[in-house]
Amino acid sequence: MPVLRCEIDGKPGFKWGQQGKCYTYTSGDTSGSKRARQKAILQGIAIGDYEEDPVEAREQVDKPTAAQRRDLPAPAFAAIFYDGDEFLRSKSKLPHHINTVRDPNANGTVDVPRLRNALARFNQTDFSGFPSGTKEKARAHLERHADAVLRGREDADLAAALAALRGE
Ligand SMILES: [Zn+2]
Repeated sequence: MPVLRCEIDGKPGFKWGQQGKCYTYTSGDTSGSKRARQKAILQGIAIGDYEEDPVEAREQVDKPTAAQRRDLPAPAFAAIFYDGDEFLRSKSKLPHHINTVRDPNANGTVDVPRLRNALARFNQTDFSGFPSGTKEKARAHLERHADAVLRGREDADLAAALAALRGE
């Protein structure tokens, strides 16, 4: 069951599945929209059929601390630079996870501000020195994260960066 959009008296809202209560917010109120969506998800959790890993429930990815950005491991980068077998953090590019990341495909550890930056500056990134195909893989990887984050929450800046990269 997904979170669906709904409307009451012209006000937009979110509800859990077809039967859920519609939680409305004032159009344009981003934090109100977030709260309404969160309430719909909480209702889904209460009903007991929330299966997805809800990205929006992990607020730390929205405002990562300096400590979470320290000593990033290889999976935190979209373009990982290796000198032989050795991971070189300083030459790796497009960081977009906090440092607890183990699985590069996990969405719960995505550093959302850095994901936005990575998408926005993707076309200015110099991939020379990386194996061929790195650019295409990095781009597909970042797009997958962005799609996943946007399925879980509203983020106009992230959506705009993704659309610009896709030439939409
Ligand atoms: Zn990743």
